[in-house]
Amino acid sequence: MSDTQSFAPGRVELLGNHTDYNGGVVLSAAIQMGISATGKCRDDDKIVLTSEGIDGVVAVNLRDGLKAHDSWEDYPLGVAEMLSRAGAAIGGFEAHFSSDLPLGAGLSSSAAIEVATAVLLTKLFPFQISALDLAKLCRRAENDFVGVSCGLLDQVSSIFGKKDHVVYLDCRAETVEPIPFPKDLGLLIVHSGVKHALTGGEYNERRDQCFEAAEKMGVPALRDVSSTELAAAKLPDLVRKRAAHVVGENERVFQALEFLRAGNGDAFGKLMTASHRSSMENFQNSTPELDALVEIAVSQKGCHGARLTGGGFGGAIVALVDLEAIERLSETIVSEYRKTTGHPGKAYRCLVSDGALAASGV
Ligand code: ADP
Ligand code: MG
Repeated sequence: MSDTQSFAPGRVELLGNHTDYNGGVVLSAAIQMGISATGKCRDDDKIVLTSEGIDGVVAVNLRDGLKAHDSWEDYPLGVAEMLSRAGAAIGGFEAHFSSDLPLGAGLSSSAAIEVATAVLLTKLFPFQISALDLAKLCRRAENDFVGVSCGLLDQVSSIFGKKDHVVYLDCRAETVEPIPFPKDLGLLIVHSGVKHALTGGEYNERRDQCFEAAEKMGVPALRDVSSTELAAAKLPDLVRKRAAHVVGENERVFQALEFLRAGNGDAFGKLMTASHRSSMENFQNSTPELDALVEIAVSQKGCHGARLTGGGFGGAIVALVDLEAIERLSETIVSEYRKTTGHPGKAYRCLVSDGALAASGV
């Protein structure tokens, strides 16, 4: 019998920064880079895992129970465990993974390996589960088995991505909708070369400030606050600034939905740049390197907007660019960035692509 295949893409957050834990809304896109899995069922109870570029073979026996090892295999094993708990008849299997996602660029390789495993296993051991429940199951694998807390965005984007569409996730309602993305536009992800220093300290502090704002305003979450209401509220200055970012991001996502539905990519790009300015001024989760990259990007012809993507405090920016100019822009932005900051920087040209189900023929 020939091997079974799956593919799960990485993702990039486009708008809706730090809105997930505030019950808010996010726009993201699946990209063409991701993780492929190839595998087959075994006659025994063994799970045998390998990954290109990682030495060694992981072999565990299902009869011993699946446990985390503090290693990469926790992601696929976690998915197998969560599928079993959900009632899937997971037996012994082999899986080999290969990835073209750059490491450390924040493109969510963890969700890609989870989703690639989940799609492979539901092909090998047929099991009825909705796409949203599969995303939630992968998230549980990361939260409860691997032991890393994360929202639902990464898994949803990897599963629900659609060519020429962005993924709109309402984190409170847990609903997902594809929104058309202009066919003549692409995404440039440019890594600042400065390591993601999301140590938890800053992240948790920002989160607590958001929760404090909601509590002082007597609402369950900042999702329930409009910018007019925020302006009228009595809040400490710093807490107001943090809240202004999240409230503004939610409002920008709602505006973006209208612009994208109207095919207005340029207006969408301007919202991305406004998002970055708010990160700089209100949320203070940017860095001088990310600011330099955004300034360089938005001053180029053919770039409609740019912002930091993901948690911030380092990492990458995403720029919305004309597809016909993407190659020229990737070279110009990186060389200008090198001149300005001395950091190497690295650009990845991304197309808004299909998610794991479409890409795996499910
Ligand atoms: P990301 O932003 O890429 O999701 P994470 O720290 O959340 O970063 O996840 C990265 C982890 O996912 C890696 O340390 C590794 O354990 C696992 N992983 C990612 N890609 C692969 C791969 N191709 N093979 C094996 N494990 C991988
Ligand atoms: Mg991750």
